[in-house]
Amino acid sequence: MIGGLFANVFQRLPSLLYRVSLNMKPQVVFVLGGPGAGKGTQCSKIVESFNYTHLSAGDLLRAERAREGSEFGQLISNHIKEGKIVPVEITINLLKKAMEETMHEDDKKFRFLIDGFPRNEDNLQGWNTVMDGKADVKFVLFFDCSNEVCIDRCLERGKSSGRSDDNRESLEKRIKTYLQSTRPIIELYEKKGKVHTIDASRGVDEVFADVKAILDKDA
Ligand code: ADP
Ligand code: AMP
Repeated sequence: MIGGLFANVFQRLPSLLYRVSLNMKPQVVFVLGGPGAGKGTQCSKIVESFNYTHLSAGDLLRAERAREGSEFGQLISNHIKEGKIVPVEITINLLKKAMEETMHEDDKKFRFLIDGFPRNEDNLQGWNTVMDGKADVKFVLFFDCSNEVCIDRCLERGKSSGRSDDNRESLEKRIKTYLQSTRPIIELYEKKGKVHTIDASRGVDEVFADVKAILDKDA
């Protein structure tokens, strides 16, 4: 009798798990660090090995800037060039839409790496207002390296990226924004014990070994 019950539960386990996943709230990892710390590089590697979807706030803003008919194109363009943080209403709506579309297309894709967000107090408040109760923030992956390393990597990337902000003048502004606005947000999550800090000044594979160990433990 009990054996039969267990067999029944085991038989139905895949469909039960599937149904649980259908009702999953988005599980979010925020990915932060200075410009050029390697956030995008590491997120691409995570996506290869783990079931995460990578959403970069910067990429979503650049796509919106390029979208024909976008009412925000010029504003986004100016902010990016000046290394300033785009108003949260724009960024949060792009993130929310991307998350919803991803989950709508495949309801097993509910794990997200949100790269380059929240970058300041305004971003954080926007997230808390719009996403409160709608997503679980698991932790922050913080890619930590010196300003010099960040600048050198972005200048190197600038040789081929075509980005309007991979030049010394924009980079100085971006670093300033990072130190003044983003570091306090990382510290806030640190106080909550929610930050995994990774030494991002090393080679890509060494950095990824640490990332993998953190995500393996989390799985
Ligand atoms: P972010 O997303 O933080 O702005 P990227 O991932 O785009 O940074 O990396 C910035 C530049 O530095 C890219 O040209 C990338 O190839 C390079 N890069 C990334 N990680 C490393 C690393 N660990 N060592 C050396 N170069 C790196
Ligand atoms: P990134 O691609 O992460 O280096 O970001 C490039 C630029 O996009 C930043 O310097 C900002 O101008 C803008 N940006 C990126 N993420 C955000 C965000 N979370 N909030 C507002 N602006 C952002």
